[in-house]
Amino acid sequence: MKALEPFLYHTTVAYFSMEIALRPDIHTYSGGLGVLAGDTARSAADLNLPMVFVTLLSREGYVRQELSAGGAQIDKPNPWTPTDSTHPLPAMVAISMEGRSVWIQPRLYRLACPIGHAVPVLLLDTDLDQNAAEDRKITDRLYGGDDAYRLKQDIVLGIGGLLALRALGFSIRTYHLNEGHAALLALQLLRETRRPTDDLAPGGSLYDRGVVREKCVFTTHTPVEAGFDKFDYALIDRVLGDYLEVDELKQLAGQDRLNMTQLALNLSGYVNGVARRHAETTRKMFPGYQIRSITNGVHAHTWTHRALAELHVARFPHWAHEPELLAFADQLADEDVWNAHQVAKSELVEHVRNATGTLMHADVPLIGLARRMTAYKRPDLLFSDLERLMTIAQDQPFQVVLAGLAHPRDEPGHRLIESFHRHIERLAGVVPVAFLPGYDMKLGAAMVSGSDIWLNTPLPPLEASGTSGMKAALNGVLNFSVLDGWWIEGWVEGVTGWAIEGHPPGAGDASALLDKLQSVVLPLYYNDRARWIWMMKQSISKIGATFNSQRMMRRYATEAYMR
Ligand SMILES: *Cc1c(COP(=O)(O)O)cnc(C)c1O
Repeated sequence: MKALEPFLYHTTVAYFSMEIALRPDIHTYSGGLGVLAGDTARSAADLNLPMVFVTLLSREGYVRQELSAGGAQIDKPNPWTPTDSTHPLPAMVAISMEGRSVWIQPRLYRLACPIGHAVPVLLLDTDLDQNAAEDRKITDRLYGGDDAYRLKQDIVLGIGGLLALRALGFSIRTYHLNEGHAALLALQLLRETRRPTDDLAPGGSLYDRGVVREKCVFTTHTPVEAGFDKFDYALIDRVLGDYLEVDELKQLAGQDRLNMTQLALNLSGYVNGVARRHAETTRKMFPGYQIRSITNGVHAHTWTHRALAELHVARFPHWAHEPELLAFADQLADEDVWNAHQVAKSELVEHVRNATGTLMHADVPLIGLARRMTAYKRPDLLFSDLERLMTIAQDQPFQVVLAGLAHPRDEPGHRLIESFHRHIERLAGVVPVAFLPGYDMKLGAAMVSGSDIWLNTPLPPLEASGTSGMKAALNGVLNFSVLDGWWIEGWVEGVTGWAIEGHPPGAGDASALLDKLQSVVLPLYYNDRARWIWMMKQSISKIGATFNSQRMMRRYATEAYMR
């Protein structure tokens, strides 16, 4: 308990997320949502915000990606060792599921920032002697298992997390629900407002939604329907019993199935999307709700390559704490910026050679693309016309580095990864292409700093924000992207990067990509290096100064938490 004491009395905001990327060796994340939660926590520590973070322990991690000889993803568990970096807290809470008591114990990870502040992260664990064998597994596999398994994880996170905070002695004023996974927390708060029936005025409600809305902030992170957790009411009944009147539940969470996003929308007094376009899309999906927008940001100190960071430190010792100062990065000397970039690029080229045997060169433009391998992200758009790609490369050589995981149950995602293997063979000798297995924070950092061009081709408007392009920009890597998510706000054509604008939008994107690559992007790299470096500096200064998680957290603090 001693380790927790400094935090107990002043902490007023609890941030809930199913995943959080704390360090590369702690496998409690799958992708963008977790990396964002990690950057949020890192900035909260920098800014000394009174916050605690709550997530699951995920002992077996998400997916360790291996590739078969034919280039198919093989899904392996990705365990980590909680005893190396966390310790158990002397508090246990129980929730009744399927008629059994499921005990939950929080473990503490202390996330410290370079200038000395820290925030506590609670990782909830059900692998305890008190629990039945199947319940011990609930906090094993991030996003694993069937609907019942996922529901139990959501219960442990939302309800278990709330009870654990109280058992530890926190007095929380604001609960920040990230994505629908934690929405059952709001339901538990609602249940606690139940009035005795004899107090009830005719037609009055048993519960006080206003009290709950006062306490809850909800951030939705995707406009993709399939990304919303939904559960059959029969399953809820089987697992939670008569937790809340089913009529009340259906009013809050949908008539057919319990939709966690809708539940969170109805019980949160502040709701936001993660970029301006995403908030607009969400308003169309859920008419009648007030949905604000706070555009995501990334943690500048975490994602800036050390060679470039050294240049910032020399000018502004406090740049990491105050990334607004990056606005002045356009004053850096061209040669310094270029040399720092070439250090990062040489490291990536070396990594590619070690991991795949493919030879790349630090003086040839390198296109990087790393994202979750799923259909709407269209990670294969670059390869839609291989003949033309080779024709372009014959005049203006370039090379491509790819990475990304597919969710174990995403069949089309698995096929995308296999298709890269065929493209790589077809392009061999003309366009060097490498797929690096095991996309994680560390590989991500190497790619967003060592590429020259960062490619992103989702199908609009389905990319809520995207954050890898912000990391790339911080490193002087130029974004070349479809206009969606954050890029609509960060894009200045020919200054911070380039837009891919198909005619018609969507369908024409593949040829628009190749046209601009051939006639604008590659010629600039080969023929006007001074202008290229000028764009690198524009990208670092304009995007680094605004799309950082310090700015994001100041906005959450003043607009959502201090409402
Ligand atoms: C930044 C990051 C993401 C999110 O990037 P997107 O642009 O949103 O796809 C996902 N995974 C890892 C490992 C990252 O570092």
